[in-house]
Amino acid sequence: MQLEALPTVQGDFNLKNYEEARKTFSWKDAEKNFSWYETGRVNLAYEAIDKHAESSRKNKVALMYLSDSRNEKYTYYEMKRLTNKAANVLKEKAGVKKGDRVFIFMPRSPELYFAMLGAIKLGAIVGPLFEAFMEGAVKDRLEDSEAKVLVTTPDLVGRVPADQLPALETIFVVGGNVKEEGKYADYLKYFNAASDKLEIEWVDREDGLILHYTSGSTGKPKGVLHVHNAMIQHYQTGKWVLDLKEDDIYWCTADPGWVTGTSYGVFAPWLNGATNVVVGGRFSPAAWYNTIERFGVTVWYSAPTSFRMLMGAGNEIINQYDLSTLRHILSVGEPLNPEVIRWGNEVFGLRIHDTWWMTETGAQLICNYPCMDIKPGSMGKPLPGIEAAIVDDQGNPLPPNRMGNLAIKKGWPSMMRAIWNNPQKYESYFFPNGWYVSGDSAYMDEDGYFWFQGRVDDVIMTSGERVGPFEVESKLIEHPAVAEAGVIGKPDPVRGEIIKAFIALRDGYEPSDELKEEIRQFVKKGLAAHAAPREIEFCEKLPKTRSGKIMRRVLKAWELDLPTGDLSTMED
Ligand code: ATP
Ligand code: MG
Repeated sequence: MQLEALPTVQGDFNLKNYEEARKTFSWKDAEKNFSWYETGRVNLAYEAIDKHAESSRKNKVALMYLSDSRNEKYTYYEMKRLTNKAANVLKEKAGVKKGDRVFIFMPRSPELYFAMLGAIKLGAIVGPLFEAFMEGAVKDRLEDSEAKVLVTTPDLVGRVPADQLPALETIFVVGGNVKEEGKYADYLKYFNAASDKLEIEWVDREDGLILHYTSGSTGKPKGVLHVHNAMIQHYQTGKWVLDLKEDDIYWCTADPGWVTGTSYGVFAPWLNGATNVVVGGRFSPAAWYNTIERFGVTVWYSAPTSFRMLMGAGNEIINQYDLSTLRHILSVGEPLNPEVIRWGNEVFGLRIHDTWWMTETGAQLICNYPCMDIKPGSMGKPLPGIEAAIVDDQGNPLPPNRMGNLAIKKGWPSMMRAIWNNPQKYESYFFPNGWYVSGDSAYMDEDGYFWFQGRVDDVIMTSGERVGPFEVESKLIEHPAVAEAGVIGKPDPVRGEIIKAFIALRDGYEPSDELKEEIRQFVKKGLAAHAAPREIEFCEKLPKTRSGKIMRRVLKAWELDLPTGDLSTMED
């Protein structure tokens, strides 16, 4: 009962022939796109900003920023100056040097991006923190990373327990009336006075670039370290997967507190010399459609949770906006339900392209490319240059159509280089025979398409059958009453586990036993009898991470009365 494949459409795509590229491409080829290939001088921020500022792209708009109170545009030339100024503030006022951890804890604003790139220009390791973190979460991350400098705002500085963080020397506060005492410094005062000239710190390709804490869907977030070498893959996926071209207006909706918001909200677009849209403020369907219309967004990268919310807001609102500039839509973060693809095709006349990757992988690995047919519900195929497989628990590759561990052959350019302070954890990701194990469960079909089934820990064993929560959830949301669904396995003396579904209803639907039965029958008929949830519980909304992922471990803990574990990344 699959949705029909959506065939590729004609177009002048950067990746013209997937199969051909798989045979011929090597990562060595991609290195030729960087100036360090000639000069030997490496720094991601140089390739992302200064190189363009010194080229014919000099006056091209690099950043378009919109919030309730600001609407600003910056060219590559201006970005070079402003990131130099930020670097000089960090260097001169706080003594930042190569390898130091510089954390940034603020809402999306141009200053955030200047500071991030400024820190990278000094060879520092950037640590972005999502603005909604409360004191405990902020402290954990600053402590674990031994951050030396923090850049934050007057609204958020109260959540930084300065006296409990001995390694933290300087706290820059951006805006407001800053009392300069102890660790506190008035960022804008120094920024306005700083020189716009800078000697970039040249680094090794293996030197630290960014430290991202994971989303915390499955447990306590891990500090994932990436290095400058990752730029090779950021660049190449920006070309092939985002399909960025000179005239594109690109919008990634993710916050830089999460890896999508840096790899694809900062690095990939700017390494490709694109015009990058950044929008502050909260999600609302009207604000989002307005952004697309107002800037004429052509390439749009978002997440299933957002698409589902837009879908839930109905199609009438869409007709109030001119969204005709859109030409390419992508998704990441959670499995992309076929129902969402069907909706996207109906309302935008475009196929939504799923992309699979993780904080640890640093960049996209398994994707749907514009030049390729889409099978709704599939994550697509491995990037040229990437070897992926389904392996058993000993690391042996399995034949097609067998569910197992989704694994990647070690050594792709943007692979993490460490879990901060936790070498054992880092080692635990790899089988001795060289496969990186993702922790996700999937299978590959005869055509080489990969199909996500669920987190390995979330896969359900019911009466001897393995059931991935994703299929059941995707079927559930096809039912008109269901807005969102989270499915778990609940221990059962007879069946091993039974399937339990937590369901948030769409507006206008009321919980009832009849509705439960109707939904159960719907899954039974549409998917399989053994996949129909034996138990259904209606809830207002599902527990999610702040990056919008359903937290099945929390559902499980609630159900089984277990401790919920680290909730630092959970939505309010
Ligand atoms: P934590 O590792 O802290 O538990 P997390 O795994 O959610 O949190 P991320 O690195 O942000 O942290 O997310 C990566 C995970 O998100 C993947 O392992 C996968 O489970 C899920 N994911 C990302 N993209 C997709 C996709 N296209 N399809 C299915 N799942 C996806
Ligand atoms: Mg993870």
